[in-house]
Amino acid sequence: MTVIESRASWGARPPRATSRLASARGVKAHYTGGRVDPATLTDHGACRAAVRGIQNGHMNGNGWSDIGYSMVVCGHDRAMIGRGPHVLPAANGAGLNSGHYAILVLVGSSGVTRITDSMKRAFHGARDYLRERGDAGAEIKGHRDGYATDCPGPSVYPWIRAGAPKPGPTVPPTTPEPEEEMPEIVSVGLSEEVVVPPSVDFQPWWSAERKDTAGWHPAGGQSIAPNVAVWADLTAFVALRGLTAGELVEVALTRHTADGRLVDYAWPVNRPARLHASADGRVEINLNGRFALSAANRARVSVRHSSKGEVVLETASALSGLLHRS
Ligand SMILES: [Zn+2]
Ligand SMILES: [Zn+2]
Repeated sequence: MTVIESRASWGARPPRATSRLASARGVKAHYTGGRVDPATLTDHGACRAAVRGIQNGHMNGNGWSDIGYSMVVCGHDRAMIGRGPHVLPAANGAGLNSGHYAILVLVGSSGVTRITDSMKRAFHGARDYLRERGDAGAEIKGHRDGYATDCPGPSVYPWIRAGAPKPGPTVPPTTPEPEEEMPEIVSVGLSEEVVVPPSVDFQPWWSAERKDTAGWHPAGGQSIAPNVAVWADLTAFVALRGLTAGELVEVALTRHTADGRLVDYAWPVNRPARLHASADGRVEINLNGRFALSAANRARVSVRHSSKGEVVLETASALSGLLHRS
């Protein structure tokens, strides 16, 4: 699932002004036209730095009030909010901005030049977001539709012209065991950042329910709570900021009773993963484990930090494929 990132997450400068856009016919795709750092293919920090650079260019060089794009999408299936929904973009060309929101795909004419499947997913995530929050219509076009430019370039434009087909799922289907059956899926996340008090051990309340095929996530709850015995392939992602550089953070996939008592650390087995905050006070971690769940052993994501001040849980998500145990 595409992660929608706030302006704060990529370190946006505040806009000098904004103009409201009530609705749009759809979205237009863009590329940078310049070089995109290949580090953006592996390091999302490089994507955020690239977006800050584009914003500086638009505000300092072009004299615009803000970054010109509505959203920027990268190869980490992330959509970073630029001007965002209900704000007039500036990237489509004079007179064309009120018709379509502008989505930048983080590719250019050198460095990273080809759109990846994750970027395609993120483009759809950004478009869905602009449709839900910004009253965008169904049209999908490129910058060059109606304006004399090469943008969005030789890799993105043919995909747009073909109707922007969605790539297949991120996670290949699990080999069913012990017998052929389709896993039930639970996918949950946060709908916004959460401020975490000093020195706590906490488990996120999942406010964004993206998929729950068997009804095994109680709405807004903390646990994935199957009412039968299942095997869970659970992937979780957690990003915290506002920590002291070098500070220890522990993250684990844990099992709890129905009334919330800790049973054990399911993944990593018997102990949490330990990470130290980066120089800019961040921790990001991905955990992937397979373990047994039941009505009495429900899965949660557990995080512990010992900061003297508040920290920010920027994003957290959990995706589980759950297979019945015989
Ligand atoms: Zn463009
Ligand atoms: Zn990225």
